[in-house]
Formats: sequence, structure tokens, C-alpha cells
Amino acid sequence: MRKKIVAGNWKMNTLPQEGEVLIKEIVESFNTEGVELIVAPPFTHLDGVGKVLKGSDVKMSSQTIAKENFGAYTGEVAAEMVKAFGAEYAIIGHSERRAYYGETNEILNKKTEKALSVGLSPIFCVGENLEERESGSYFDVIKQQIEEGLFNFSETDFSKFILAYEPVWAIGTGKTASPEQAQEIHAFIRSLIEEKYNKNVAESVSILYGGSCKPSNAKELFMQNDIDGGLIGGAALNASDFIAISKSF
Ligand code: PEP
Repeated sequence: MRKKIVAGNWKMNTLPQEGEVLIKEIVESFNTEGVELIVAPPFTHLDGVGKVLKGSDVKMSSQTIAKENFGAYTGEVAAEMVKAFGAEYAIIGHSERRAYYGETNEILNKKTEKALSVGLSPIFCVGENLEERESGSYFDVIKQQIEEGLFNFSETDFSKFILAYEPVWAIGTGKTASPEQAQEIHAFIRSLIEEKYNKNVAESVSILYGGSCKPSNAKELFMQNDIDGGLIGGAALNASDFIAISKSF
């Protein structure tokens, strides 16, 4: 049985006090059995959010980590620092990191290795942009992101990963991939994992959909065979929407 997961990426939103109000609302109303709920606040909120989450069922992630460990890397945040605040996950390879901060598959591979080395489970994102979708090259793009980002890891390491398929053209645009479009890619990703590792690994890894997922469309998406939950942006900033999505399985 694969884990059902709903993860919320707050991106660069909320002041720390607002984040605290949001996380308290989420913790108070989360009671969805059989679903793992994860929040990914900004680095500056990890301490406060981590304290609220102590003893609750909600887990915490960072939105990225440095590819280096400690040292002279001004402005960066090490995986170990994130872990010290109680985070269990790190989002790696979000399309905004790829597009705006030049994070290549090679860099993301290093970040994944760093996360694993301190015991953080990577939530590794892949997805094509609009041009790649329209030209039909999206299968190749996703294959390359996964092969170069993840396929040098052992079977044991791979079993710690969560994957997220996030078509860039659907992120923050209000334009969701249809359940069929999303299912097609999720099944494709699973087939790549089976080819590289084996059926058991492929069947155990949770693959989340991300891209304008909200309470009104989550159910249809989560009903698909290979969709195991969602990575949520905008709707994760509203506790009742986020909780409603967690009830959409
Ligand atoms: C995201 O950025 O991961 C995302 C899915 O955003 P949104 O839900 O706002 O499209």
C-alpha cells in the first residue's frame, strides 16, 4: 500500500506570525486518517512551525536545501539545519528553483544526496513547461529529470523518496492538468522506476500531482490509479482548503 500524501508548499508567503496562525488552524482541523499531511513553510518559519507541530501528526518539510554542508556559503541553509528544526522532508527540484535559480539536474542530484545524508526524505519534483508539452517532448524531459536527478541512488535510498509531477504550465495558473493527462505521466514515471529498479520499488513510491490542485478538483485527480496525493501551492495557504484536499481520497 502506497502512502497517501498531501503536502503544502507555502513558497515565499506569510510573515512568521501569520504562518503560526495558519499552522495552528491546520493542526487543529487535521483528522484525516490514512493520509500524511506535510507543510513546507519558508526557512524563517521552520523554528516556529516546528514547535507547533511537536506532538502532532503533521510533518514538516523545507522548500529546498543547500547542496553543500556547513561552510562559507552565504545565504544558504544546510540540510542539517533544517533537520534540527524537526523537518523530515525537503522539497527538491521545484520548477521555480529550476527556472529562477538555475538548479540543474546535476545540482538537484547533489541536493538529494545531502538530504539523504542527514535523514531528510526528498520530495523530488519533475515536470515540463508549456513549450515542452505542446511540442510533445514532455516524456523525454521528465525521463531526463528523473534519470539525471535520481537514478544513481540505491533501491534502499529510492524507497525514501516522494516524487511530485508538476507540469509547469499548471502551477499557479489555475489551469490544472486533466486527470487523464496527470495519470498518463504518473504511470510513465512508475514505469521508468520499474525498468530501473523493480516492480516492488515502483509500486511503493508515492507520486504526487501538483499544479492548481484545489478542493474542487482534488478528488478526480486522486482517484487515478497512479496519483497518490498532491503537492499544493496556493490552496495550502488556506487551512480549510488544505484540509479539504486531504479529505479528497
Ligand atoms: C506548486 O508550486 O508546487 C504548486 C502546485 O502551486 P499551485 O498549487 O499554486 O499551482
